[in-house]
Amino acid sequence: MTDMPLDFGDPAELGQLRRDFRAWMARHPVPERLPDEPVPAFLHRWHRLLHSGGWVGLDVPEIYGGRGLSTLHQVAISEELAACGAPGVPRIGYLAHAILGFGSEEQRLRLLPRMLAGDDVWCQGFSEPDAGSDLAGMTTVAQRHGDHFIVRGQKLWTSYAQYSDLCLLLARTDRAAPRHSSISAFVLPLSRAGVTVQPLRAANGDDEFCELFLDEVCVEESELIGAEGEGWPLAMATVSYERNALDTGHISKYGLVVERLRQVVRDRGDDLPDGLRSEIGRCVVDFEVLVAHARRRTAERLDGQIAGPESSIDKLLMTATEQRLYETALRVFPEALVGEADDLFGDYLYSRAASVYGGTSQIQRNIIAKRVLHLPSPD
Ligand SMILES: Cc1cc2nc3c(=O)[nH]c(=O)nc-3n(C[C@H](O)[C@H](O)[C@H](O)COP(=O)(O)OP(=O)(O)OC[C@H]3O[C@@H](n4cnc5c(N)ncnc54)[C@H](O)[C@@H]3O)c2cc1C
Repeated sequence: MTDMPLDFGDPAELGQLRRDFRAWMARHPVPERLPDEPVPAFLHRWHRLLHSGGWVGLDVPEIYGGRGLSTLHQVAISEELAACGAPGVPRIGYLAHAILGFGSEEQRLRLLPRMLAGDDVWCQGFSEPDAGSDLAGMTTVAQRHGDHFIVRGQKLWTSYAQYSDLCLLLARTDRAAPRHSSISAFVLPLSRAGVTVQPLRAANGDDEFCELFLDEVCVEESELIGAEGEGWPLAMATVSYERNALDTGHISKYGLVVERLRQVVRDRGDDLPDGLRSEIGRCVVDFEVLVAHARRRTAERLDGQIAGPESSIDKLLMTATEQRLYETALRVFPEALVGEADDLFGDYLYSRAASVYGGTSQIQRNIIAKRVLHLPSPD
C-alpha cells in the first residue's frame, strides 16, 4: 500500500511541513460536531481553524493570503488530514484559481484572503434547469446598463448556497454573440436585493442543493470577473481544476477505504468468496492507476502545465474508482448499512453523484473524444 499516495520522495522541506502539521494537529484536534449543527457549518468551523494554523491555500501567493508554496505542499496536507481521518481541506481550490487566473489585481487582493480565511463562503452558480451538460445553453441574462448589469434568471443544483455569502455566477451578457463568447462571470453577493435562495431536500435527507432565483438583481461592473464575454474560458478553467483528482483531496480518502479492504483480505482472505476477492483486487488496481495518474498530473503542474480537456480523463478515472470502491466496501462491510457510526454508507450514496457533478461521465467521454483524441464528430 502506498502510505502517502503522492509521495515524491518528500524533499526535506516537505517532511518538515508534515511534521509541523502533525504537531499542530496534536494541539488542535478536530472539534466535535455540535448537536443539530449542519455539516457545512461544522466544516466551516474546521476551515477557519485550519486557516488559523496556516494550512489553507498553501499554493496561493502570500500577497493573496496564501503561503506561496507549491501544489506538493497542498497535497501533503490533504494526505496528512486523510491519514488521521480528519475532514479534508476546504474545497475552494478551483474557485481560488478562477479568481487568480481571471480576476483583476484589485479583485484578487480583495476576494482571495477572505475566501481562504473562510470569511466569505462561496458557491458556484453555473447550472440551470435547462443548461447542465449543455452549459453554454444558459438563459440567465445580465444586461448592461451603463456601469452595472441587471441579472434575470434561475440557477439550479447550486451546492450549499444557503450557507454561502458569494456566488461565482455565469450569465449571458450579449444575446447576439455566439453562445460561447456571450457569457460573463460575476461575483454575486447572495444578500443582494432580488436574490432568492431556495434549498432542495434530496432523497438521502441532505439539503445540499439549492435553486437560485435572480429577479432584477443589480451587479456592479467591479463584480465582473475577467473581461465581458470571458465567462466561458473561466468556467472551463474552473471545471478543469474541479475535475482534477489532486485538488479535491479524494485520493487520500479512497486510500483509507482501500486499506480497510486490504486488511480484510489479509485477515480473512481465504474465507472470502472468489468473486469478492477479485473485486477487491480490481479496486486496488483502479486505485493504484489513479495514484500513478495523479502523480503524473502533479509533476506536470510542478512544471507549470495545467490540464485542460485532459482533466476529463481524471474525472472519469476518479468516478470509476470511487463508485467501484464504495460498492465493494458495502459488500464487504454490509453492517455499514445500519451502522450510524460508520460514514461508509453515506459515502457510498454520495459516490452515485460522482458521475454527474462537475459534468457527467457521458460528457467527459465526449470531451475526450473531441478535444483530446480529435475523433471525427457525427454532427
Ligand atoms: C452532487 C452535485 C453537486 C452539484 N453542484 C453544483 C454546483 O454547486 N453548481 C452548479 O452550477 N451545478 C452543480 N451541479 C450540477 C451538475 O453540474 C449538473 O447536474 C451536470 O452538469 C449535469 O447536468 P444536468 O443535471 O442538467 O443533466 P442533463 O444535462 O439534463 O443530462 C441528463 C443526462 O443526459 C446525458 N447527456 C446530456 N447531453 C449529452 C450529450 N451531448 N451526449 C451524451 N449524453 C448526454 C447526461 O450525461 C445525463 O446522463 C451539481 C450536481 C450534483 C449531482
